[in-house]
Amino acid sequence: MNPTTRTVARPLGVLAALPEELGDLIATMRAESGVKTVTHGRRDYHVGTVHGAPCVVTLARIGKVAAAATTSALIHAFDVDAVVFTGVAGGVGPHVRIGDIVVGETLLQHDLDASPLFPRFEVPLLGMARFSADLRLAAQLAAACERFVAEEGAALAAHFGTALPQVHRGLVISGDQFVASASAVEALRATLPDALAVEMEGAAIAQVCHEYEVPCAIVRTVSDTADDHAPTSFASFLTEIAGTYSTGILRRFLEARAEEPAA
Ligand code: SAH
Repeated sequence: MNPTTRTVARPLGVLAALPEELGDLIATMRAESGVKTVTHGRRDYHVGTVHGAPCVVTLARIGKVAAAATTSALIHAFDVDAVVFTGVAGGVGPHVRIGDIVVGETLLQHDLDASPLFPRFEVPLLGMARFSADLRLAAQLAAACERFVAEEGAALAAHFGTALPQVHRGLVISGDQFVASASAVEALRATLPDALAVEMEGAAIAQVCHEYEVPCAIVRTVSDTADDHAPTSFASFLTEIAGTYSTGILRRFLEARAEEPAA
């Protein structure tokens, strides 16, 4: 690498599964720097600057394979220096309510089971079940969430009729299933008592980032409680509220990142 390229800040990869989960990110990029859109592997990658931070923003679509493929492209085709996922999830932890925010510090694939050849949940031949988010990045994301809640939480709760949001940090579990029954969420609680939220992408992103040694962090707003009400709760939360959370959290996170000295 020559000295000129070394000083150019590498972008942050920002991804979500669904357009609502990105909030106003692409519109803000368009207004701030303009957007260069690159299509790669049937996905659009939007390159530009948001709140002062160089970013590549894209939609993975739903599920672990989609998330892994997109994360790999962010790393190899766009040379991102870290990956952040923003989206919604089902609450699993007993104190996790709709409207709360969960920052994943550890991620696990709850549907991975090659037993008895390998322990349940372990990624075969990698010898790991739990993948760590980058703890510094996760702490920065959690700090942005806390600022968002302090500044906008009360108004948001009043407007949408939810409780004042709490920010939780811990285990997020992922699988290729939309969990939507009391019995299914109970079974997850029984096997993984420390799980805070369930979704369909996070642990795949964390595995790919672990393998390529790229820092990652996952933030999820709780759209449902993964029980029989999940389909309706998820749909209304996604269309009415999810974007407000992503917009408010990412703005604070990116502004803080833009002020950091380049690595
Ligand atoms: N019916 C929807 C599909 C939603 S899949 C559609 O037509 O678009 C649910 C998405 O939200 C996934 O990306 C997942 O990560 C997250 N999610 C929210 N609640 C979830 C739950 N209860 N179980 C699993 N994933 C959930």
